[in-house]
Amino acid sequence: MFNIFELTRKDPKTLQERALKLAEEAGELAQAVLSATGAPGSGYKNHSLEDVREEAVDAAIVSLSILAQASSSRAEFDAELERLMEQKCAKWQEKLAE
Ligand SMILES: [Mg+2]
Repeated sequence: MFNIFELTRKDPKTLQERALKLAEEAGELAQAVLSATGAPGSGYKNHSLEDVREEAVDAAIVSLSILAQASSSRAEFDAELERLMEQKCAKWQEKLAE
């Protein structure tokens, strides 16, 4: 997807550093959602749904770079992304149909 595999290869971060980065981005996403929805104590930060969208993509990019780093080739990354997205979304759909 895009050039995430190549960018991950060029970026010297370790898998552990990427996992910590994902936790950081998840925190930023949580902060944006809390603020954008006016949660008590967070509304003053004035985040919008645009901020939520941006932080959601930041978290998705870091997550995909973890998938890339855990893959041994671009082909494996692409195949695993396709396979796992299919499998996990099917599971989600099954849950919703219950
Ligand atoms: Mg961010």
